[in-house]
Amino acid sequence: MTFSPPQIQWPEGKKFAFTIFDDTDASTVANSAPVYALLRDLGFRTTKSVWALEAEQPPVVVGGASCAEPDYRAWALQLQAEGFEIGFHNVCCHHSKRERTLEGLRRFEEIFGHAPRSMANHTGCRENLYWGSDRVTGWRRWVYLAATLGRKARFLGHVKGDEHFWGDVCRERIRYVRNFVFPDINTLRACPWMPYHDPLRPWVNQWYASSEGGVLDSFLRTVTEENQDRLEAEGGACIMYAHLENFSARTAWSHRASASSWSGSRRKVAGSCQSRRCWITSPRSVASMCSRRVSARRSKTSGCGTSCGMEKADTPWPSASSAMKKAMWRL
Ligand SMILES: [Zn+2]
Repeated sequence: MTFSPPQIQWPEGKKFAFTIFDDTDASTVANSAPVYALLRDLGFRTTKSVWALEAEQPPVVVGGASCAEPDYRAWALQLQAEGFEIGFHNVCCHHSKRERTLEGLRRFEEIFGHAPRSMANHTGCRENLYWGSDRVTGWRRWVYLAATLGRKARFLGHVKGDEHFWGDVCRERIRYVRNFVFPDINTLRACPWMPYHDPLRPWVNQWYASSEGGVLDSFLRTVTEENQDRLEAEGGACIMYAHLENFSARTAWSHRASASSWSGSRRKVAGSCQSRRCWITSPRSVASMCSRRVSARRSKTSGCGTSCGMEKADTPWPSASSAMKKAMWRL
């Protein structure tokens, strides 16, 4: 079966959609609040993930503030009240066994009033669902292992019986989970079947993809004016993968970028997107719109009127030729 980028009628007559899922790594009030103040002022209401619990061990990759800190929790609640969605990025910055993950989900619900609606695995955590080579199957797994030099880390959140297992709870409470990140600004063109359910990975309800913006440089590369023009012309959707804490002037300075030029460029980028006929929303809302389109298409062709997204056996994978071109995939 071949897929072409779907045409979607975005709400409010908008021509394309733009959103961000902000992984909370290294986030603090000091380095993230200025970025969110700018987003808020420009009308962006994207998704900020949090860690619900404080760390009890050294971080797997990087630490950061958690909702156990009153000032950070209050700021996250303020963001939620302003219309930002609060997402899930595991419960803290290190490995968590089942009981701790469940404790963190309970705490998330206590603080924000509902279970998380979207999440992204935090790199390196053992309780991640279908992470590492488990993201793909068959020959794709061999390609993956070759590309990652046979990285051996095991991820066990989906392995029933393991002490890190929590797939049943994820399926019960969380609708959307991020999988692959593509260099294309138009996430929907890179993954036109998004959101999708993968029967080989049944503990995740729906997967969504993202576009590369993990660090400031890659974010700016992805959202160039030229790429925004194309995104608009294609009527597509961009779900940016980002770590917005490293967008603050202070961090940009530490990366040897000029604080003043960064301040100007972030305003320019955000202002450009905001001034277009762009639907700025949360990843969950984009996935939900795409899901409706998938359902409508399925109901036309097969009579299936369910509200679920397309079922896709195995993780979507670009054609062999485009896979080579998309060598910048974040594995
Ligand atoms: Zn992370």
